[in-house]
Amino acid sequence: MIELKNLNKIYSTKVGEVEALKDVTLNIKKGEIYGIIGFSGAGKSTLVRCINFLEKPTGGEVVIDGRELGSLSNRELRQERKKIGMIFQHFNLMKSRTVFENIAYPLKGNGHSKEEINSKVNDLLKLVDLEDKANVYPSQLSGGQKQRVGIARALANDPKVLLCDEATSALDPQTTKSILRLLKEVNKKFGITIVIITHEMQVVKEICTRAAVMEDGKVVEEGNIFKIFSEPREKITKSFIDSTSSLTNIYDLIKDKSSVVDIKENEKILKLKYLENSTSEPIISIVSREFNVDTSIIFGNVEIIQEAPIGGLIVIIRGEEGQIEKVIDYLKENKVEVEVIKDGKLSTKITA
Ligand code: ADP
Ligand code: MG
Repeated sequence: MIELKNLNKIYSTKVGEVEALKDVTLNIKKGEIYGIIGFSGAGKSTLVRCINFLEKPTGGEVVIDGRELGSLSNRELRQERKKIGMIFQHFNLMKSRTVFENIAYPLKGNGHSKEEINSKVNDLLKLVDLEDKANVYPSQLSGGQKQRVGIARALANDPKVLLCDEATSALDPQTTKSILRLLKEVNKKFGITIVIITHEMQVVKEICTRAAVMEDGKVVEEGNIFKIFSEPREKITKSFIDSTSSLTNIYDLIKDKSSVVDIKENEKILKLKYLENSTSEPIISIVSREFNVDTSIIFGNVEIIQEAPIGGLIVIIRGEEGQIEKVIDYLKENKVEVEVIKDGKLSTKITA
């Protein structure tokens, strides 16, 4: 659907050249919700702007539905762009026009009758749940409502692709959720391919089926969300994943010498990570029973991604000499990754 082949983008500025994209190759399938995550400056916005040729790549190809954008005439490119909707972090609405007029704007000059435009805009208002705001101006809307107008406007020409550049970054977590829900609905209902650009792993986790991690103009890791979360390869990917997890709080507790982590000689603090196909709840009660140890959970961060449990637990485990070692072996055999964070017998080990 969207094929990016060896994309390069160099900006020439007064102070020299900036290599914003370095040999980016990605394949985004029809109808999927694809995430592109990276810190500020990684090249994400440049990449989306290259997808619709708002920015012309310095090298490489952008192929959408089999058409290479670089080979099109200006007129063909304008036509092609109509099939690509875009929404932005700061909504980019026209202040002096009503909600209705903002949504109707992309439909103008396409030979639609007034009735057609009215009916289309009303359908879109209904879709984004803003029927009662048709005649209101953007300044009278909340951030979430503004983004709903942005989405309706982006969908006016029935695009095949929707590009979202930090579309929820200016919104609070609750509103973010409702916008993501709407995007999911739009994806399902119309089969639109959605590309989500974000610096928030939470967003990727919530909505995407596949994602790419960008760093310094390059794609450093790519694949299925479950795979990325269960077996991240790159350091940067791990740090993005940690940002959505409470498990790293344990290191702060240890640094702060909290009484919670002040363990006895027969205790260990373990970090358990569920790998593919491991089950969550029962395994803790099984080891407690079978090996006669006591386990208390300090932090838990287990959730279901694509119908499998993922995440982990921080536990304190207490048992007789040798038993804890047996538990660790048992867990490993059952596809649970185990890391000893603190051993009551030894001095503190901190692995950040
Ligand atoms: P992101 O969206 O991930 O924050 P950008 O694509 O905006 O990253 O920027 C990537 C790099 O390209 C940055 O170093 C940025 O300063 C530079 N850059 C972006 N746009 C321009 C431009 N129009 N002219 C010059 N440099 C730019
Ligand atoms: Mg950006």
